Amino acid sequence: MSTTTPIIGDWRRHAERLTLDGRAFIDGGYADALSGATLEARTPLTGERIADLAACDEADVDVAVAAARRAFEHGAWSRAAPAERKRVLLRLAELVRDHRDELAATITLDAGRPITAARGEVDGAADTFQFYAEAIDKVLDEVAPTQPTALALVTREPIGVVAAVVPWNFPIGMATWKLAPALAAGNSVIVKPAEQASLVLTRLAALMHEAGVPAGVQQVLPGRGEDAGQALGRHHDVDAVAFTGSTEVGKLFLIYAGQSNMKSVSLECGGKSPNIVLADAGDLDRVARFAALGAFVNQGEMCSSGSRLVVEEAIRDELVERVVAHSAAWQVGDPFDPATTSGALIDETQMDRVLDYVAVGRTAGARLVAGGERVAPESGGYYVAPTVFDDVDNGMRIAQEEIFGPVLSVIPARDADDAVRIANDTMYGLAAAVWTRDVTTAHRVSRAVRAGTVWVNTYNQANLAVPFGGYKQSGFGRDKSLHALEKYTQLKTTWLNLEV
Ligand code: NAD
Repeated sequence: MSTTTPIIGDWRRHAERLTLDGRAFIDGGYADALSGATLEARTPLTGERIADLAACDEADVDVAVAAARRAFEHGAWSRAAPAERKRVLLRLAELVRDHRDELAATITLDAGRPITAARGEVDGAADTFQFYAEAIDKVLDEVAPTQPTALALVTREPIGVVAAVVPWNFPIGMATWKLAPALAAGNSVIVKPAEQASLVLTRLAALMHEAGVPAGVQQVLPGRGEDAGQALGRHHDVDAVAFTGSTEVGKLFLIYAGQSNMKSVSLECGGKSPNIVLADAGDLDRVARFAALGAFVNQGEMCSSGSRLVVEEAIRDELVERVVAHSAAWQVGDPFDPATTSGALIDETQMDRVLDYVAVGRTAGARLVAGGERVAPESGGYYVAPTVFDDVDNGMRIAQEEIFGPVLSVIPARDADDAVRIANDTMYGLAAAVWTRDVTTAHRVSRAVRAGTVWVNTYNQANLAVPFGGYKQSGFGRDKSLHALEKYTQLKTTWLNLEV
């Protein structure tokens, strides 16, 4: 494991030396799509092509699902002692750490994440494999308190073949939140990476193989959502889909399940999270720093982005002034510079979408007080300045629709009740925050806000032991924590008659 942080030039050289293999990993080895078709992987740093991806479709999905089912039935993984799966996954965690710089540079090149953040993401992936490895031989089943003439065992069994369909914003992180608990529980898992950021996952497949995850138990199939993603969603021999992505596509997976085999579906979808600041919040500079962090971290390409700053009128002017000052401190630019805090948006389409929303906000009458424009266009990269709109009405599109870019809307509220009303006035319910010094108000507001996570006097705090997921159209099911195992197992009740 490397312990030093290479400087920018070193990182660039590192990236130039990467071997990028965009082929699928099926049944224990790399393979082209059966059709021979490919997709181009382009870097958002310059727009240049960096690799070809196998464009898998229904035919490849059929082969992968058959291999996954064979491996599951064979039992080398699904029926292995949990302690054996633990050993393999701990080896995998170490292998991921050993390859941290390579994996991080791949993420930065392919997805535009700042290198410092990408390294953190890879560390998080290793920690996730370790967390579920260490947990899986400590999770006990149940004996129910039935009548004394019977014994009822309530046991958890792996669900079978799991498809994990993931987005591009945390290319390894979102996938490992699903891979680690699903593999630990004994399933066969097929990962469908996002077209925009597949390369770190096609590489991870080889590391999973090297760690000792058997052939067919883990497979990675790049390809278009409408092709590989849909084929997995509609497959009659896939038992569960764990999806992270947009609400729109999440709904399609419910349709696919209903039209095929009623597979179980869990959805981690979008958000429009309110960050509520009440007049008694206290240190407004600290609040402003977190407000900027909540909105701009990962270039705003974050499901839990605190994209609505709901502020009690009495402190609005001062807070907005401080948020604007903090947003100016975000260093936007070359993601291979370790000092960069905001890298490139994932592709030109996403950048244009974000800039369109800036125009939509202006037209609707919101007041642009920071950013709003592309940065360093001469690089060919897709950079957008941290952007703040004041005077936003919660009914405006910029307050209702997920932008998935560095755009913060400041929405005035009369008091705490009005703030809660505004906070809940959205189809989403992923996360929220409230800033107040009053403990009663903190509890009252956290209870009233309909969101899967509520932060009090902080934003984006996280820990693997804590579940993460949404209410409403942000989805259902939870990633992280021991609760995630529920998505990848099913309960079996076995009755034994003890009467003689
Ligand atoms: P997306 O919905 O466009 O794509 C997600 C995945 O679905 C990709 O692998 C894609 O190829 C696949 N897909 C696309 N169309 C499909 C179709 N018709 N059938 C089957 N599969 C299809 O999302 P994205 O643009 O990659 O990611 C951004 C979204 O992800 C945002 O909405 C964000 O909020 C969400 N997200 C949520 C969480 C969370 O934990 N709640 C975390 C990260 C990202």
